[in-house]
Amino acid sequence: MILFESVRVLSWEPPAVSEPLDVAVYGRGEGAEKAGTIAEVGTGLASRYPGARRISGAYLSPGLVCAHTHLYSALARGMLVSIEPSKDFAQQLERLWWRLDRAIDLPILEASALAGCADAAACGVTSLVDHHAGPEAIDGSLSVLRKAYEEVGLRGLLCYETTDRNGPEGARAGVAENLRFAREIDAARASGERPLVDGCIGAHAGFTVGDETLGALSDAVRASGRGLHVHLGEDKYDAVDSRRLHGLDLVERFDRAGCLGPKSVVGHGVWLTESEVELLNERGTFLAHNARSNMNNAVGYNRLLTRSRNVVLGTDGTSADMLEEFRFAAFRHRESGGPWWPGDFLRCLDRGNRLMERYIGAAQGRVEAGFAADLVLWDYEPPTPLVGGNVAGHLAFGLSSRSVRSVMVGGEFVIKDREPRFDAERIGAGARGEAARLWKRMEGRK
Ligand SMILES: [Zn+2]
Repeated sequence: MILFESVRVLSWEPPAVSEPLDVAVYGRGEGAEKAGTIAEVGTGLASRYPGARRISGAYLSPGLVCAHTHLYSALARGMLVSIEPSKDFAQQLERLWWRLDRAIDLPILEASALAGCADAAACGVTSLVDHHAGPEAIDGSLSVLRKAYEEVGLRGLLCYETTDRNGPEGARAGVAENLRFAREIDAARASGERPLVDGCIGAHAGFTVGDETLGALSDAVRASGRGLHVHLGEDKYDAVDSRRLHGLDLVERFDRAGCLGPKSVVGHGVWLTESEVELLNERGTFLAHNARSNMNNAVGYNRLLTRSRNVVLGTDGTSADMLEEFRFAAFRHRESGGPWWPGDFLRCLDRGNRLMERYIGAAQGRVEAGFAADLVLWDYEPPTPLVGGNVAGHLAFGLSSRSVRSVMVGGEFVIKDREPRFDAERIGAGARGEAARLWKRMEGRK
């Protein structure tokens, strides 16, 4: 048993700050069925749990969720590769991202995933939803990612971005890897394990998925009981291509194939129409908004964001820092003249927990008895009062990842008193070595 003593509990939804409270947590091996969850929240709990490990700190909050990222791009930071400038997004995919993902082999993927997970943990991110591509190393790639999540100690949702861009065999391999991994997780659960990660069915984007592959993805969604995770309408090209080639809006096309439901995630959706947004709302499908990535790729701004009922926030691989992402989302929206306040984006940040809950089958995102013990302890000394009414304001203008002191996932510390429990030095050194190798492989793939 672990006891956080006299901490102020920060809640995201609804935003609130408690008086000093004690929070008792079952460690991962304790409390049988309740292992890794919050046991009790109250006052004077030290006398009820005399054997508990006692931890003190300022503020305790639920961990943060990144609802859309690409760990395979973690080694792209500061990339020194000669890349021709791109005139549009499709060219940028070809000249940069597809050259990068083709150069990924399994050791590069492992180093990239470990570095990305370690970075996320340091920013107070406890759940990471990944969308993986690496067409020359598809088989087994999701298990390599799973191992990295487990080594660092993060929760997550994994999939492989199925695409037709490498021919029908590449597409079949993508679908097969998604299904293989879903079965791996089902088997682990059937044997009594409680894996930190689950799998869903991944697809790259509307314009790289033809009808035959869409049919196979639809079968995989049905067979696995999972949802689809796909980029739709990130760039205008995707929306135009769907209407030109298929005579259907993107969302309509994927919905007709039975791929969109409450476990599905649509990345970006910058160029969706009103009727598509309505359809996503009806299906309960999540829309992952990635403000920084949209700005960096100059794909445009999602003018219908406020009409979407299930907006979650992702980084799209930009970096793992979700507070930074939250700030960009809020500021870019203000710049667009939109009506949302930081509090609306805080609701989006919190909603990533609903996505994870639909997979892990346990409640998360609140510091309450019975919820998953995915927690962040913050060292934060605000220069102004911090109360329920201004939590989002403190996140937008003050609280940052530099205040993260300890991070817990499922009752186990991932970082304790700023000391990672994983081997950060080894992960960093391994990543730098593999990054150099990745960049060299990219040079060879012009
Ligand atoms: Zn993405």
